[in-house]
Amino acid sequence: MIKISCEACGWVAVTGEPVNDVWREHEAGCPAVGGAVRHLPDLPPIRPRLPEVNPCRHRLVRRQIAVMGNGVKKYAVMCELCGRFVG
Ligand SMILES: [Zn+2]
Ligand SMILES: [Zn+2]
Repeated sequence: MIKISCEACGWVAVTGEPVNDVWREHEAGCPAVGGAVRHLPDLPPIRPRLPEVNPCRHRLVRRQIAVMGNGVKKYAVMCELCGRFVG
């Protein structure tokens, strides 16, 4: 059994069916503003491990990435130019 959850609306499913199919179904019906956000506990953080090597000077913007079930908005700071998450 595999557990899948949606960070955007708080939906959780434990399933033996193919995860991608179950997820696609939720994604289509997710009530969250801005769409479903799949929680993937198995994947490492998106943050690069190595120090910054590209010449981008980073224009930081605060992007809304999800709205929780209780209406609390989640933000991530990312670079508008290269798309990297900074914090
Ligand atoms: Zn959802
Ligand atoms: Zn950048």
